Amino acid sequence: MSKKIYIAYTGGTIGMKKTSSGYVPATGYLQKQMESIPELKTDIMPLYDIHEYERLLDSACMSPADWFEIARDIADNYEKYDGFIVLHGTDTMAYTASALPFILKGLAKPVILTGGQVPMCEVRNDSRENIITAMMIAADYAIPEVCLCFGSYLLRGNRSVKSDAGSFDPFSSPNYPPLASVGINIDVNQKAILPSSNKQFEFAMKKPNKAGVAALRLFPGISAETIENILQPPIKGMILETFGVGNGPDHDSKLLSVLEKASNQGTIIVNCTQCLKGRVDMAAYAAGSAFAEAGVISGYDMTTEAALAKMICLLADDRSVEDVRKLMQKNLCGELTSGMTR
Ligand code: ASP
Repeated sequence: MSKKIYIAYTGGTIGMKKTSSGYVPATGYLQKQMESIPELKTDIMPLYDIHEYERLLDSACMSPADWFEIARDIADNYEKYDGFIVLHGTDTMAYTASALPFILKGLAKPVILTGGQVPMCEVRNDSRENIITAMMIAADYAIPEVCLCFGSYLLRGNRSVKSDAGSFDPFSSPNYPPLASVGINIDVNQKAILPSSNKQFEFAMKKPNKAGVAALRLFPGISAETIENILQPPIKGMILETFGVGNGPDHDSKLLSVLEKASNQGTIIVNCTQCLKGRVDMAAYAAGSAFAEAGVISGYDMTTEAALAKMICLLADDRSVEDVRKLMQKNLCGELTSGMTR
């Protein structure tokens, strides 16, 4: 029997139309284009249903409330389909791909985000190949996790980052191997894939509160006042993007006391490196351990996207600050490599 795929079409370049003011999402336009792709009608392709969202978005306009809606949509259709595709703009695809695994727990079916750098309406485009590959993987491969399929790779969603604005391989997974390479063959790296969960599938999240979280990139000369201003209510948690293995200006006692005061008052401050690859080790330098003493916790090798999404999801549930701190440092769904750090 043919497999059946559910396609949630949220917007993005993939289905956009060319207008005098640039590409714009257009209702019904993507379906029409997909109907005219003969490959999608062949026996080797799965059957599919498309759900076009009412508000097709440039992903730059997405918020955690949209992650929640996408997850809800997949959960509502979970029993009826063999796999799920989320068509999404590339700009914030890595954030949505990072968030969904914290919301959709106990997945036994693939959920694959994809899109295009050039829309399907152009003669030369990557959208067509991306959607065909994503559909084949969603139907034929037992990958029980949220992934991002684009160009030459299938990546774990919560390890992915958009690292190239102009290439047909715009995503990378700096701290985790690709789940599959897409070339002449689709070569799945079985060892990298999460084992099938023995838990029941569940939609596990309350509506997120985006106002409570911030991300800040340190830069040489950043002032204590800048950080203090950002840490004002309603901020409950912040991802601090530090230098190298988690360092910052430890000679600035005012800055350290701002961090310490906020931590003591229950603000969760997570240290992620601003390097694309590698992990935080706050014990390696005095410039890192001073942050640990101020109450900053390690984000280990999480991407900023994953750390932000994880914090937003954890804070959406009524957990204690201590609980959120503990969970932020624990591997919950493949987003973090534990061990190895002091
Ligand atoms: N701005 C677009 C978006 O993220 C870019 C894309 O889809 O490639 O929706």
